[in-house]
Amino acid sequence: MKSGNPPYQCPECGLHYKEKEWAEKCEEWCSEHQSCNLDIIQYAVENDDSNEKRS
Ligand SMILES: [Zn+2]
Repeated sequence: MKSGNPPYQCPECGLHYKEKEWAEKCEEWCSEHQSCNLDIIQYAVENDDSNEKRS
């Protein structure tokens, strides 16, 4: 389990973002294109390896 404030989630693809701005951009793109934009999802916490170490 992780503690702390939950990040913003894109309801379309389920990815999480620290910035609400990116979550909104992602949601817009996902609902319009039914796919993810790499330029956006690179900011998702799931793809942010540098900032948070896992296990
Ligand atoms: Zn999305």
